[in-house]
Amino acid sequence: MVKFANRIQPCDNGLNDIFTYANDPALISFAAGYPNNHLFPQAELKSAFASSLTDSTSLQYSGAAGLKSLRAKIAQHISSPRRTFTAAEILLTQGAQQGLDLTAKLLLDPGDGVVVEAPTYLGALSAFDAYQPTYYEVPLQDDGMDLNVLQKTLMTHHVKFIYTIPDFQNPTGSTLSLPKRQALLRLAQRYDVIILEDSPYRDLRFSGESLPSLASLDTTDHVISLGSFSKILSPGLRLGWLVTTPELLVPLTELKLGNDVQSSTLVMSAIDQYLDQHDLSDHIAKMNQAYAAKMATMLNALDHYLPAAVNFTRPRGGFFIYLTLPADIDTGELLKQVILPQAKVAYVPSASLFPVSHQANGLRLNFTNLDTATIELGVKRLGQILTRVLAQ
Ligand code: PMP
Repeated sequence: MVKFANRIQPCDNGLNDIFTYANDPALISFAAGYPNNHLFPQAELKSAFASSLTDSTSLQYSGAAGLKSLRAKIAQHISSPRRTFTAAEILLTQGAQQGLDLTAKLLLDPGDGVVVEAPTYLGALSAFDAYQPTYYEVPLQDDGMDLNVLQKTLMTHHVKFIYTIPDFQNPTGSTLSLPKRQALLRLAQRYDVIILEDSPYRDLRFSGESLPSLASLDTTDHVISLGSFSKILSPGLRLGWLVTTPELLVPLTELKLGNDVQSSTLVMSAIDQYLDQHDLSDHIAKMNQAYAAKMATMLNALDHYLPAAVNFTRPRGGFFIYLTLPADIDTGELLKQVILPQAKVAYVPSASLFPVSHQANGLRLNFTNLDTATIELGVKRLGQILTRVLAQ
């Protein structure tokens, strides 16, 4: 038998059970976090790739930082009257996911403290786990992290970075309020801790005003900010970006070089072409309209079919709604024993989204990659079974 490194733990997050049912045509999966297949700008990307390929430089190496003209366009996309970004502050990455890995690689020695929201994005924990951190959970409230708990943690423990998903958080959909953004930055400054801002859902707002990113509010060089084309264009392109100060950007670029040399020149130049030829904000507006309708269908169905003992979030954008069941329910066991076999519905159980407390009474639902009739039917089946289970 192959002996894995000690830090590699066997994976048991409840998701494996879903694969057993993956080929069942009756299964309705709210588990994955996929954008809608029908909303990809396929024809436009096809022509962007074709025009990139007319120039042989798109098949050549192009440097670890990524194509400068694309970085300049991203800089423009993330700039606001409050703060202008430039191409020199940006590193192109293999999705936001690579930004998580590079940051942890740069900052963490085994045992170092990392603050995470509770619950948080499973993929971030997978990336950080490789560097063997000590996790500190900070509970999420409707308007983001509980900053009192955060402050106590920073006062009593040595923390290397605070990982936050401030916009339409994965898995809860919650958004960090403006006063809390400002207070979080003050804490980072006071305790001299880096904030890792991960915001791939930032542009997917269905109602209300966009809030300034932590990167745009930062005046003391305490933020590394991640963005991505995955949710606004296509995750198959695997392109994201990292924005930070030169002090951090230079070693992060070195690490990227050692990791995969650079992102794909062809992909970077095709996105660059796409952005030359099309208005990304029009495409995002179209997506937001479609996703808003899907989320409204899911929220209505949850209102209608869920028993009163189940609470759920009401996000204003993003991909996910989070349900909280009574404390004695284990949603992983429930999925395996009852929900998958009887309701033929899949979701992400919460235990693995809490790296320390493993709270098991929550679950995440995705609404973006299903049509409204299927969303309604899936929630109806889920609600009926939960009503029966909670009545027992
Ligand atoms: N961060 C969060 C919060 C996510 O939800 C995801 C995707 N599920 C990622 C990062 C990774 O995205 P990408 O495809 O850009 O690597």
